[in-house]
Amino acid sequence: MDEPQLNISHLEGQLTYHSEQNGLKRFLIKTKVELRNEENCTQILSFGTPNDLPFKCVLLLGETGAGKTTVVNGVINYLYGIGFDDDYRLCVKEELVSMGPATGGERMETESQTDYISMYILYHQQGMKYECNFVVIDTPGLADTRGMQHQNSVMKHLEEFLTTDYNIDSLHCIGLVAKACTNRDFTFQKEVLNEVIILLGNNIPEITNLFATFAVEKPVVDQIVRNAGVNFMKMFEFDNGVLFAPHRLSDSVMEEDRPVLEYRWKKMQKQYGTFFTALMNAPTVSVQILKEKKLLQRSLKELKRHVEELARLLTAIETNKKKLIKYELQEARNRDWRQERRITRRNRLEVPEGFHAHNCPQCNQTCIFPCPPDKDDQNAGIIGGLAGVLGGSAAGAAATQATINSVAAATRAAASSSGVAASVGGWVTRVLGGSVAATEVVATAGIPGVLVGGMVGITIGAVAGAACGKMITQAKSCNFSNGRGDVCGERGCLHSLSQHLTEKERIVEQVNVQYEINDDLKELYDVAVSKKNDAMAKIISGRQKVILKKRQVTEDFLGIVIGTKTLARISQGLEQVDPSKLLDQVIAHVRLGHHEHIHHAVHVMNVLKKSIKKVNVCDGEDVDGNCDMIMKLMENIPHES
Ligand SMILES: [Zn+2]
Ligand SMILES: [Zn+2]
Ligand SMILES: [Zn+2]
Repeated sequence: MDEPQLNISHLEGQLTYHSEQNGLKRFLIKTKVELRNEENCTQILSFGTPNDLPFKCVLLLGETGAGKTTVVNGVINYLYGIGFDDDYRLCVKEELVSMGPATGGERMETESQTDYISMYILYHQQGMKYECNFVVIDTPGLADTRGMQHQNSVMKHLEEFLTTDYNIDSLHCIGLVAKACTNRDFTFQKEVLNEVIILLGNNIPEITNLFATFAVEKPVVDQIVRNAGVNFMKMFEFDNGVLFAPHRLSDSVMEEDRPVLEYRWKKMQKQYGTFFTALMNAPTVSVQILKEKKLLQRSLKELKRHVEELARLLTAIETNKKKLIKYELQEARNRDWRQERRITRRNRLEVPEGFHAHNCPQCNQTCIFPCPPDKDDQNAGIIGGLAGVLGGSAAGAAATQATINSVAAATRAAASSSGVAASVGGWVTRVLGGSVAATEVVATAGIPGVLVGGMVGITIGAVAGAACGKMITQAKSCNFSNGRGDVCGERGCLHSLSQHLTEKERIVEQVNVQYEINDDLKELYDVAVSKKNDAMAKIISGRQKVILKKRQVTEDFLGIVIGTKTLARISQGLEQVDPSKLLDQVIAHVRLGHHEHIHHAVHVMNVLKKSIKKVNVCDGEDVDGNCDMIMKLMENIPHES
């Protein structure tokens, strides 16, 4: 088939050929999808090039099958100047999805029942009769067989749709679409219109018109609609059945039928003409007020939610503060879970070859070591060093044990093998075998908390006194020149040197530090520390959350105060809402909340209520300045001591 030629050159490139039936070609207008919201079943489609001309907006309401989409097509063919003699018609896509026989509109629509609210933006183009852009909103069947629940969801979607930022600011016509010959009950439509009036205001009837579709003969629908109590301005008879009438003559359309069809076409065009003239002069119903009201409702809901969340956070901080005090006390009460005890022990260590030690049996200590001091002159330095090594070796042995094995393991081994574990009352003493260097004590002193089960008993070896480094000779052969005769005089020993034993061993003193641990107290202490830290962390993070939440509350509150002023301004004073009354509503709602939080929520709300007068909305709505002011007022929530 040859690509059909259009004689409306200005629409070239904007149409897609669809089909041909009975000599009549159908072209889809190539619309651009501006927005499609599957959740809300809404879509915005545009045709043409955006421009600065004003908009005229028509909202179509009517049950499924009433012919709403056909009205959209009628409008498009009228606006773009399609004539009866043209062998093509323009259509929107939805209609064609289930396009039935060309003659009847009825079957088409019952089959192309769509759930989408579709907004068509028809931008002004060359050849259009009016100097403006048009918006036609096609709604899915309201009050149709799917019942009230479906109607409610459509109303909800419509409200969402009309109040999204993308959309129009005003409505100029509500077209109540109904078949001219229908005798259906219009109670539902009346309810729908009442909903729209609630939504958009009392001047809705001033822009409501009845579109009697498929109106071949004198419509009866207007009387039925009026009898149902629906107010409308004017009825337009749109004989849309003729829109897609066969172009070619056939058995069903004979030569003598043509004048009738042409007459019907002209009559339809004239009705559209009358309608558009009326539309150009129609009063405006602002959707801005609806949007502002909607925003206000949203802000109120958000405020309630955020105030309750803030109250919950404040209660949580209080609870955690109580916990903090409780566990601080428990920590203090059980701080003495570990007690220190020092026990001195003596060990014998071999001295290096060529040396000996003078040990006092009475004192049980080494008084003189190393001896002899001048075995070899150069040994002096070595001896000094040796003494140091020897002195440290005892400590070193245990230190190795403690570091090579884990402390816990060493402790366990010591506790089980040494048999020194003793239990007195709640106190358990466990001694770690061997000795531990002083540095190890420091290192392990912090560990007890890690050693679960109270199996801590650390013995600290402090090497004392043995390595005196004195250079003296043996008792008889050794030359002691301390000037005290036979008296030793070393390290507190006043015994005779002759009674001292010259031995190949020296006596090393160890101070064992034992920790006695009360497992019961320790458990209470550990729990207290852990819970105290937990409560502190929660208080700190809670305070940060409170600040963020206060900011949200502030923003909601300012949205409400500024919103009421905006509403009054755009409605020219008709919509006067007292913000403190709105806050009272929120207070009434939060009073129904959880009893633990109510007092905080009400407190916050009262602070906000008092600050209404302080909000500055005079100079360009100084949002930041107002925000800071309110945040400052809320600084004292809660009253902290
Ligand atoms: Zn000696
Ligand atoms: Zn002595
Ligand atoms: Zn002695």
